[in-house]
Amino acid sequence: MIDVKISPELNFAHLVRKNILKSSVELKEELKHRKISLISEQPEFDKFLKFFKDNKEFLDTYCEKLIKIIKSFKFSKLSYVEEFFGEKFPEQIDIYVGLGNSSRVTFGKNYGNFYLLLPRGFPKKMTPQKDFQVIIHELIHSLHYKKPIERKIKNKDFFEYVVTSFAPEGILFGNEAKKNNLDSVKLKKIFELVKNSNNILECYAKCIKLKLWESN
Ligand SMILES: [Zn+2]
Repeated sequence: MIDVKISPELNFAHLVRKNILKSSVELKEELKHRKISLISEQPEFDKFLKFFKDNKEFLDTYCEKLIKIIKSFKFSKLSYVEEFFGEKFPEQIDIYVGLGNSSRVTFGKNYGNFYLLLPRGFPKKMTPQKDFQVIIHELIHSLHYKKPIERKIKNKDFFEYVVTSFAPEGILFGNEAKKNNLDSVKLKKIFELVKNSNNILECYAKCIKLKLWESN
């Protein structure tokens, strides 16, 4: 279901030229750290390509690990998530793994026809297993983005809690959901509600009843 691609240099250069990678705060920080700026200008762009080539072996190893993880994951587990949201996952997703960031947070973004991942701990301390859980988290978000369900539930915060209840960690990867920037008491309650509801609307109704949110 998920096709992981490491971007060949030309494609990668294309992403930079199109300002897609340049707009990433994480990559910008990384380049600043390596004294590369204004990558749209040729001399800087050449420096950037050298930086990419110098680190490509780390990315290749990382991608091999990520592919192994993807191959061993039981995607049948996700049909329950589809039923819960009443929406289907896309059949194929291309993931471009770009130069990562040395921070502790993995950057993942869905650009419609491809998904960009800038792994944390770049280049030597990358964490493919954890990043895979981030990919699944983002994938689950795609089940409610721009969908009728968002017209019924106009509460972005609610979706963040529900998606986090599935992954990272959560129902799909462990016994509880963990995420630093969410209210952990609330997350625990919502995690239980997600486990014990048949679908997202039922879960939302229970949340409103428990006054976890005001209805909209
Ligand atoms: Zn999220």
